[in-house]
Amino acid sequence: MVGGGPVGLALAGDLGWRGISCVLIEQSDGSIYQPRMDLVGIRTMEFCRRWGIVPAVEGSPYPRDYAQDNIYLMSLTGYELGRERFPGIGQAPPPPVSPQRRERCPQNMFDPILRAFAASQKTVEMRYRVRLISFTQTADRVTAVVENAETGARENIVARYIVGCDGARSLVRETLGIAMRGTPVLTYTTNVIFRCPNLLSLHDKGKAYRHIFIGPEGTWSTIVAINGADQWRFSIIGGSDQREYTTDEIKAAIRRAVGRDFEFEILSVVPWVRRELVAECHRNNRGFISGDAAHVMSPTGGFGMNTGIQDAVDLSWKLAAMIEGWGGNGLLDSYGVERQPIGTRNVAEASRNLRRMLSVPPHPDLLDATPQGAATRETVGREFSETMRHEWFTLGAHLGYRYEASPICWPDGSAAPADNPRDYVPTARPGHRAPHAFLADGRSMLDLFGRGFMLLGFGANADEAAPLLAAARQRGVPMSFTAIAEPDIAALYQCKFVLVRPDGHVAWRADHMPDDALRLVDVVRGASKI
Ligand SMILES: Cc1cc2nc3c(=O)[nH]c(=O)nc-3n(C[C@H](O)[C@H](O)[C@H](O)COP(=O)(O)OP(=O)(O)OC[C@H]3O[C@@H](n4cnc5c(N)ncnc54)[C@H](O)[C@@H]3O)c2cc1C
Repeated sequence: MVGGGPVGLALAGDLGWRGISCVLIEQSDGSIYQPRMDLVGIRTMEFCRRWGIVPAVEGSPYPRDYAQDNIYLMSLTGYELGRERFPGIGQAPPPPVSPQRRERCPQNMFDPILRAFAASQKTVEMRYRVRLISFTQTADRVTAVVENAETGARENIVARYIVGCDGARSLVRETLGIAMRGTPVLTYTTNVIFRCPNLLSLHDKGKAYRHIFIGPEGTWSTIVAINGADQWRFSIIGGSDQREYTTDEIKAAIRRAVGRDFEFEILSVVPWVRRELVAECHRNNRGFISGDAAHVMSPTGGFGMNTGIQDAVDLSWKLAAMIEGWGGNGLLDSYGVERQPIGTRNVAEASRNLRRMLSVPPHPDLLDATPQGAATRETVGREFSETMRHEWFTLGAHLGYRYEASPICWPDGSAAPADNPRDYVPTARPGHRAPHAFLADGRSMLDLFGRGFMLLGFGANADEAAPLLAAARQRGVPMSFTAIAEPDIAALYQCKFVLVRPDGHVAWRADHMPDDALRLVDVVRGASKI
């Protein structure tokens, strides 16, 4: 792995969890100077559950009773136009479709959790302050030239595969000759972290996660409670023209958003470019890309890292299968076939969210203390509140992604439920995330998945499943069997037999054993076409 951001750390951790030897190199020392992500999505939390790190996330210092409201306002001391109320993360129960809930855990808290998880795996070697300089590949290996940032010493690392988790400006992607497609500039945005321990006492809006500031010109900035204590991320959203701000301009903009003069300390200023890009493919021979190296999107929606961690979980078991010798020749190609459309889907939704946030047209009378001004504020607040719900309610986006054209999922001819970012429809249709339900003993169905393939039998015993289990054994494919007695779960999964992949997606389902069990095993391990 090249890159020790959240995606590289998740991939290293998952490979290690599977007992696969790997080396992660990261050019920095791993310190996060300005946290970017803070929404750990519900699917990512399901992976955290598999990895045993939910307690660490729940125990992170972000206060779990900190109200997660999103407020639309003219300034912290000015008119409030609308508000979507959310309780503190720890006060909201998981939705019925998952054993987990989304979490608020900013990158400076989440990356160290992933790092500790990866470092705890015996087969994972992590090397910080080591930078990839270049690499070449032959038919059976990759040779990477890396440089130690302390000593300047260079050495070669020889591996079977290389995965670029090296972010938006990925050297791995560039070396593999993979182009990005889309819109290179949506906005030139400036993020400022400032410290102000008493900000809450300076206004009457109460605790909230995000404040979106709307002026007569439209939406212009946001403030996010980055640690639920004394640090805040102020963003000047900007537009398609590049602009640099002086410190005085930044201070004036923060005071405009707060609506009064006050004391604060600027901790960091990071100008960045919001993009809408997806890689044309995810693989070139022995080289792969995951995370921001493969898709760069607007943070609106909180999909970036979460999409990248899904990439990592999709790729990890496939690399493990090749290294363990049971993966077929087509298995690694299925990674891009499955993940590239999901990157495209999420990048597009993130941009739609951005357009929604910027959808307020100029209203010169918005600040007027007149009946007309009040009427405008009422209309803007109502319409904007309705529009923004698309961004706040995204179970469908996080759980409803499916691998429709996958060459290693055997379609059963059933119709796909609508892919709606808001609504998630649980289904065990091949290609989808195998749905959650609680077993009688309190475990989630999701707790059964991960180590190898899992063949579920609903009203069926292991003897009836024997042909498929024997075929898997013959091909060296790890597959186990679990009989499920609960009728409500049988109704959810719909078929007598359901085969779930190591990443928790359904590979096949039917009411009877396949006529040719070896052929099915060959398809799901990427050794045969359907
Ligand atoms: C303001 C903001 C808010 C966001 N909020 C969210 C959110 O709430 N939820 C969410 O899911 N996403 C969010 N995102 C997106 C998220 O931060 C990214 O998608 C995520 O960090 C990508 O992770 P990554 O590991 O792919 O890449 P990165 O985090 O960019 O990590 C890449 C790593 O590779 C290293 N590297 C690069 N080149 C080399 C080299 N040659 N050798 C060695 N190491 C190298 C870098 O040092 C870096 O550590 C947000 C983004 C922004 C800007």
